[in-house]
Amino acid sequence: MDILISEELDSPAIRKLGEKYQLLRAPELWKTPAKLRAAIHNVRAVMVRNQTQLTADVLAEANGLLAIGRVGVGLDNIDVEVATERGIVVIAPLNANAISVAELTLGFILSLARKIPCSDRFTKAGSWDRKGGTGMELDKKTVAIFGFGRIGRMVAARARAFGMRIVVFDPFVKADSPHLGEVGATLATQLEEALAVADFVTVHLPLTGETRHLFNVKAFAAMKPGSFFINTSRGGVMDETALLHFLSEGHLGGAALDVREIEPPQERSDFEKMDQVILTPHIGAFTHEAQTRTLESVCDDMDRVLSGQPAVNFVNMSEPGKTKES
Ligand code: NAD
Repeated sequence: MDILISEELDSPAIRKLGEKYQLLRAPELWKTPAKLRAAIHNVRAVMVRNQTQLTADVLAEANGLLAIGRVGVGLDNIDVEVATERGIVVIAPLNANAISVAELTLGFILSLARKIPCSDRFTKAGSWDRKGGTGMELDKKTVAIFGFGRIGRMVAARARAFGMRIVVFDPFVKADSPHLGEVGATLATQLEEALAVADFVTVHLPLTGETRHLFNVKAFAAMKPGSFFINTSRGGVMDETALLHFLSEGHLGGAALDVREIEPPQERSDFEKMDQVILTPHIGAFTHEAQTRTLESVCDDMDRVLSGQPAVNFVNMSEPGKTKES
């Protein structure tokens, strides 16, 4: 078998790939790790979104695996270190969905500032509460951007167009980075420094050992009273119980969450009862444009690797077994 597709994935690009290679489509496979370990044994490539956990023990079974195609950006479901040790190319179109996530983030900032979702709900329910719908302007408000990578920088450019002041927290960004100057952003060296001045805190970090629960009781307490928290990165960067506490006792003005600690959430939480909270089901990359770009890019690189050519968009190596050192 050539390519195992272990999640719900379909597109013209995948069907085209199917004309050239054997595809094993198993959209439910990610749910059963034992079956995944068995299925991955004899395939040359695997294509996943973010639900299939390609952990070290799953990859240990993948004897003939040449490539992993990640249809998306976050790599927290793939043990890239082990894949690299085993000479497996990790394909990921890192630039394909940044615009879509940045636009959703701005949508959230505007929705929170102008109470658009709850005004819509109340109006449809028959009320005409103009005073209750009073919001705030973005002009001259401060947005703190945590993670100034591809998405964070696009959020900054768009926030700038609304006249917002921008503070960045990202220890890997140097103070003289031209990207800061382009959007007139200030670099904070301490997490609390950025949290204390922000009217909006927006997170664009990868989920790593360091960033897991970075937004915890201490961080939420350091946020300005009445400020808003937006997370379109990964649910694991925030402690949901702590966030619920600071929302329900009124310290935070609201939140918008595209991602959750467990997806889909196993049970309903108090978030659903709060008018000041906006919830979406991890749709950051779900625009027609981003999905088309992402799938075409992954399928093109799958074809390249399986036909012996180097991948173009990859995380670790362009060809199987060819790490930078080798
Ligand atoms: P990126 O790698 O370009 O940027 C991440 C930034 O975070 C980098 O600048 C890095 O220096 C910084 N960073 C890393 N560790 C940090 C730390 N401990 N503290 C502060 N900054 C730190 O990634 P990106 O393409 O901008 O994507 C960001 C995240 O957004 C992804 O990792 C992914 O999890 C998430 N994402 C979500 C969706 C969605 O559908 N909601 C779609 C795409 C990406």
